[in-house]
Amino acid sequence: MEFNKEEFKANLSARLRRQYGKDISQANKHDLFDAVSASALELIMPNWMATRNEYDKKPTKQLYYLSAEFLMGRALSNNLINCGIKESVNEVLKEMNIDFNMIEDEEPDAGLGNGGLGRLAACFLDSLATLDYPGHGYGIRYEYGMFEQRIEDGYQVEYPDNWLQHRDPWEIKRSDLAVTVKFGGNIAYGKTPDGQPRFFIENAEEVTATPYDMPIIGYDTKTVNTLRLWQASSPNGFDLQLFNNMDYNRAVERQNSAENISRVLYPNDNGPSGKALRLKQQYFFSSASLQDLVRHYVGDHGTDFSKFAELHVIQLNDTHPVVAIPELMRILIDEYNVSWDEAWDVVTHTFAYTNHTILAEALEKWPIEIFQGLLPRVYQIVEEINRRLVIELRQKFPNDYYKHEHMAIIHNNMVYMAWMAIHACFSVNGVAELHTELLKTAELKDWYTLYPEKFNNKTNGITQRRWLLNANPKLAAFITERIGHGWEKELSKLKDLEKYIDDDASINELIKIKTENKQALADYLKHAQNEFLDPESIFDVQVKRLHEYKRQLLNILHVMYIYNRLVEDPDYNPPARTFIFGAKAASGYRRAKSIIKLINTVAERINNDRRVRGKIRVVFVENYRVSVAEKIFPAADVSEQISTAGLEASGTSNMKFMLNGALTLGTMDGANIEIFEEAGKENGFVFGLLTEEIKKMEAEHSYNPQEYLDCNPALAKVVEQLVDGTYDPTHQLFKELHDSLVYGVEGQRPDVYYVLADFDSYCKAKEKIAAAYGDKKQWAKMALKNIANAGKFSSDRTIEDYVRDIWHLKKVEVK
Ligand SMILES: *Cc1c(COP(=O)(O)O)cnc(C)c1O
Repeated sequence: MEFNKEEFKANLSARLRRQYGKDISQANKHDLFDAVSASALELIMPNWMATRNEYDKKPTKQLYYLSAEFLMGRALSNNLINCGIKESVNEVLKEMNIDFNMIEDEEPDAGLGNGGLGRLAACFLDSLATLDYPGHGYGIRYEYGMFEQRIEDGYQVEYPDNWLQHRDPWEIKRSDLAVTVKFGGNIAYGKTPDGQPRFFIENAEEVTATPYDMPIIGYDTKTVNTLRLWQASSPNGFDLQLFNNMDYNRAVERQNSAENISRVLYPNDNGPSGKALRLKQQYFFSSASLQDLVRHYVGDHGTDFSKFAELHVIQLNDTHPVVAIPELMRILIDEYNVSWDEAWDVVTHTFAYTNHTILAEALEKWPIEIFQGLLPRVYQIVEEINRRLVIELRQKFPNDYYKHEHMAIIHNNMVYMAWMAIHACFSVNGVAELHTELLKTAELKDWYTLYPEKFNNKTNGITQRRWLLNANPKLAAFITERIGHGWEKELSKLKDLEKYIDDDASINELIKIKTENKQALADYLKHAQNEFLDPESIFDVQVKRLHEYKRQLLNILHVMYIYNRLVEDPDYNPPARTFIFGAKAASGYRRAKSIIKLINTVAERINNDRRVRGKIRVVFVENYRVSVAEKIFPAADVSEQISTAGLEASGTSNMKFMLNGALTLGTMDGANIEIFEEAGKENGFVFGLLTEEIKKMEAEHSYNPQEYLDCNPALAKVVEQLVDGTYDPTHQLFKELHDSLVYGVEGQRPDVYYVLADFDSYCKAKEKIAAAYGDKKQWAKMALKNIANAGKFSSDRTIEDYVRDIWHLKKVEVK
């Protein structure tokens, strides 16, 4: 990209004058962030327009990634890097005595996602643009993103994330492209002007969907794709009559009801919201996105839809946008007079579905009552899809009445969204090898029998632009000094780093970089939450959403065990360790919140006990999010990936840690398996029961956690300490956690997630880690081995896999 310093400076000053009535000396940090971002966007604009023109000029197939979540994080630094002007902008700012890092910190995270699923969508967009593929995102412009977490008295307290309180300099409102989405009402039956029968909706609640576009800038290319997020509003504004009658609340009722649809992200990761408003959100952005696509298509090709599937592929990110399937049927049939069979042909060649979890509580289903009430005509179409499916099931599985019932999209008074997806989509993929195998052989076995050709694996990935180049500039420079550029767009080139495994200078340099990154994290945490971290200690890190299956409880029980040991045994002298946690719990997830309270209670006790000072410390990082993650991964020594085998579909933080030279402590689960395979098991720490072992115990009902307590007094002690007053004089705070492990509560089996069964194996792995860290050089060699073999985990590789097997896109070069 062309960059003219003087022009940029002039642009910056002009903006500050126009927008804020200030010159540079008067501008505050926020004004500067806004003006620098806006000036950068202006530089990007020609490429963005050229990209759209290129795609329009010669219609080629385009991908649309429908996702209820895009966890984008901050844009400024990443965008400047991707268009190659970060250095120059830095210099300009320096000349003006402005510190880039100061203004960078003014940008709020675009936290429009919960965790891995939303961040995956963001990494995919970066890779699509970088690889010159025409692929765009469609989602919701939540007014409030993922809540802000504060820890008060050890408890998580949620605050609204008002990320739009100042304007977002990266978005462009496109009022000209607004569409209308209808809810409720009743189905009416009429005739078209040419006498054809046709359904339509009467008395519906009409909601305006207005798109806001964000540029997705490819790295070292002219391609700029689009993330289009929909905002809800009322087309009717408020009721002036009611306002004049001083009935102010009712006057704005309609407006509020519409605006509530894009008000806030549901903070449930891997779990149900069960709320009608959530289904409203799903239909809102699915319908708006499809209307957008169909309108554009009809503008180019008229109402012959035979080319639609050749020009569009729509990837459904989990079941959240699956209502798009019957909605496209509705649009084609009701609005364009397409026959059922032709419409079904279009739909079944356009949609592909990604499954992200096998947790039963996350399999989305909606009560008919809610679904039908909100979307009466769409429900009617789902009934017809289901009727035809059941006929197919009767033919394929004669006399297998169990399948006829349980594979039906509608049964038990519920609409099963995953069943609709698998039936209608031409591709169904899992997100890591083990996950896809479990789908085929267990969770979706019956569907795999019916449609084996649809199932395929696409192991997740992460973008090295954000997670290495941007987050860890020192390591990035270390790499480039040794193997040159190229890895930024082809991560498998990192393999060349293996040459330096026995190069002492390189190993020392790597140790130095890690230590500096640890110091930087320590500085941040000192400033952000007055925590003291010792960069000489092992940084042992578990950052991810809080969920029982991710087993933060196993981690903190081990910390409690180490604490007991240090206090009881003066001869026990392991290297100093800092146990770092970061996690948000869904607001209604009581047990997850108790685990946060437990971590903070244990931290408070240990960090204030002189007997263990300098030996262990526990730190809970508040409000874990993308911008904080970017400081944590570069500073980590140990990557905790300790989910119950078979339950973490893939994981992606495991990949970010690996790329930044942390060693994995993990179960044989999700993508950990592939990480150990690439890096070599000897360069990580594997522990715990295998999926097959757990499945066997489950089939035989043979797991008895009491046995593990009986034969391990140290384990029995920490479990007892949850309720014996050691950490909580009331004995009540952690009683549910204790009972869930020992007895089982609310009708559950005891220790559903095999925490006690894996405890001993986990402790042994931790011992190995403590021992291995004693030899810093050997440790750094293992870290380098991990970095060198992280190539597979680039989202560029994932995208190429999707393109080859599912999307069949062609690269489009923007001139
Ligand atoms: C990568 C990422 C995640 C996913 O972490 P997992 O450990 O794979 O669950 C969640 N949140 C943020 C902010 C991330 O960057």
